[in-house]
Amino acid sequence: MKLLEGQIAIITGAASPRGLGKATAQMFAEHGATVVIMDLNKADAEASAADLPGTGHFGINGNVTNKDDCIRVAQATLDAFGKIDVLVNNAGITQPLKILDIEAGHYDAVTDVSLRGTLYMSQAVIPAMRAQKSGSIVNMSSVSAQRGGGIFGGPHYSAAKAGVLGLTKAMARELAPDNVRANAICPGFIATDITAGKLTDDMLKQVLDGIPMGRAGEAKDVAGCALFLASGLSGYCTGTELDVNGGSLIH
Ligand code: NAD
Repeated sequence: MKLLEGQIAIITGAASPRGLGKATAQMFAEHGATVVIMDLNKADAEASAADLPGTGHFGINGNVTNKDDCIRVAQATLDAFGKIDVLVNNAGITQPLKILDIEAGHYDAVTDVSLRGTLYMSQAVIPAMRAQKSGSIVNMSSVSAQRGGGIFGGPHYSAAKAGVLGLTKAMARELAPDNVRANAICPGFIATDITAGKLTDDMLKQVLDGIPMGRAGEAKDVAGCALFLASGLSGYCTGTELDVNGGSLIH
């Protein structure tokens, strides 16, 4: 069964070849969605879209921290397809800093992409979703928000991702009367380029020791959760946090 037949989805930060956004785009396309990939670099976004199964997908450059870019991407999607069914706010960056090492530039960079970006991109699609009386917004938070870091990101990353949870729940409450849902995914340690080559063997062992399932997650583990939250299977779920962490946080 195809879960997103005829649906139009925007996924931010989906040009990273081994990333969660790309894996989500791939799975959405396999389930019949037409996908718009937004990422910083135009050529990378276009290449990522061209790689997806099916036709009609396109890549577009945009920085989620820039409101005009977000509006431009939403408008390009509406111009092409006339509707936006799903938004996945996936773009995010992290930095492995200790609390006293976080300077203004670090704070701005990390908080802006995850939190401001999620707000701006959601604001860009909400009018269309409200008018349609349907829509699903899926926000990429992190286990780091729930357990206070501990994998790779610093406290500012945990704070940004915790902010994403609060924003998700507040949006869920406000948008529910218009049948627009908002949910968050909290991945644990997933093997992607966000940490690739940045963990020492000791750090990696320590992380894996803390995962009852004994392995890093795969990008498709997260994509499956995004598919569930995007699709009608989760039609009565809004304001939820979906954990994808191999048991590393059970609460
Ligand atoms: P990744 O680094 O592979 O991909 C992130 C993508 O976001 C890149 O393509 C990058 O170009 C894009 N991006 C960065 N800043 C942007 C901006 N301002 N505007 C538009 N695009 C931008 O990372 P990933 O591991 O696939 O992570 C995806 C999301 O999942 C992030 O929000 C991350 O914080 C979150 N997450 C990842 C893990 C993990 O273990 N990999 C765990 C928890 C949460």
